Amino acid sequence: AFEGLSDKLSAAFKRLRSKGRLTESDVKDAMREVRLALLEADVNYKVAKDFVAAVTARAVGSDVLTSLTPAQQVIKIVDEELTSLMGAENSRIQFSSKIPTIIMMCGLQGSGKTTHSAKLARYFKKQGKRPLLVACDVYRPAAIEQLKVVGEKAGAPVFDMGQGDPVKIAKKAISHAKDYGHDIVILDTAGRLHIDEQLMGELKNIKAEVGPHEILLVIDSMTGQDAVNVAKSFDEALGIDGVILTKLDGDTRGGAALSVRAVTGKPIKFVGMGEKLDDLEPFYPDRMASRILGMGDVLTLIDKAQEQLDFKSSEKMAKKLKENSFDLDDLLEQMKQIRKMGPLGQILSMLPGVKGQIGDEEAQQGEAQLRQVESIINSMTRAERAKPAIINPSRKRRIAAGSGTKVEDVNRLLRQFDQMQKMMKQFGSMGGKKGKRLRAM
Ligand code: GDP
Ligand code: MG
Repeated sequence: AFEGLSDKLSAAFKRLRSKGRLTESDVKDAMREVRLALLEADVNYKVAKDFVAAVTARAVGSDVLTSLTPAQQVIKIVDEELTSLMGAENSRIQFSSKIPTIIMMCGLQGSGKTTHSAKLARYFKKQGKRPLLVACDVYRPAAIEQLKVVGEKAGAPVFDMGQGDPVKIAKKAISHAKDYGHDIVILDTAGRLHIDEQLMGELKNIKAEVGPHEILLVIDSMTGQDAVNVAKSFDEALGIDGVILTKLDGDTRGGAALSVRAVTGKPIKFVGMGEKLDDLEPFYPDRMASRILGMGDVLTLIDKAQEQLDFKSSEKMAKKLKENSFDLDDLLEQMKQIRKMGPLGQILSMLPGVKGQIGDEEAQQGEAQLRQVESIINSMTRAERAKPAIINPSRKRRIAAGSGTKVEDVNRLLRQFDQMQKMMKQFGSMGGKKGKRLRAM
């Protein structure tokens, strides 16, 4: 998401930067471009207009233009205003002081309620909680079955009473949760293709009967401008506490992410970044703004790494690096850890400056290279991995044949590994803060 918007914004900023000193009309020209870029990204008309007005007022009304780095200052203002547009800070789920905390998921059909119910369950399980999923979408037997399938993947039990009355099911589920020590109950409700009285009536009944602590509206970011209208209607009819914006991984233009908060006053709490259960991210407006402005989102990358990396193993690696005993087995291990973080393209796109420079094809090539290196190392014996120096030409031929590669691929890997070791040696012998920082990388 956001590629188009990012590209247009960076083009506008590039022009600003090339000017050195800025006049009021330079800023206004740039802001006209920003406004068009926002509109093209499906940002709500009024939101785009107000946004540009706010940035312009701040940029021309202060000493920004006479500063030494006016373009930089304008970009900083855009960054800050984008952040505050999306809500300024990360909004978390409110936990009830008495268990269970009841979360009610609602939204149109196909928006991602069932998937995100399970993603949330998994998210909470990772935090040591005991979520219970509840099948309140009773109109299609397939919906209950779907929740069971994703619930099992998430490792969370699913409470269902077949195609009964959703209000009764919700109530029963909550007493079940109390009996069985579930601290979070997630109600997966039914959706319709369009908002209608009957759907809202049913949701209102569930709300009145069980008093959810969080009503989360699930909206599909691919629906563009419509997403915001949906959010407004649900909020007016039901009163929502927050939004989960789904399918932000697709080629959505991202406008919904920028408009929802401004139009409804309700925060985006999570974003869905894919179909897999791990593809859920807490929403941080400042990080999203950085991503949109092409400054990368290193913080989310670090969060992901911390979630996925096995800490024992990274400590072990740090020690090995220090002692200079990092071998090919360790390299293999590290590569596996990186792969766990997700597709290479997705990881790289979070790095500053990489955005837009790495296409799907390049990402796929990168993946293929990683796989090749893995299979080469896999074809080596223990002794060879520990001491690559013993790999002579006949061993190289054997390894190449075993991994389905060429001898030159094996050579390249060994050469690169050799360079890496030399570099590590340098870091290892570097004292003080810098050495420590480099070693920690
Ligand atoms: P519901 O009708 O609201 O319960 O929606 P579902 O959870 O059944 O999701 C509808 C479709 O959207 C399914 O095919 C999901 O796999 C897909 N989906 C849900 N969330 C995401 C997401 O964040 N990214 C992508 N790419 N697909 C998603
Ligand atoms: Mg569903």
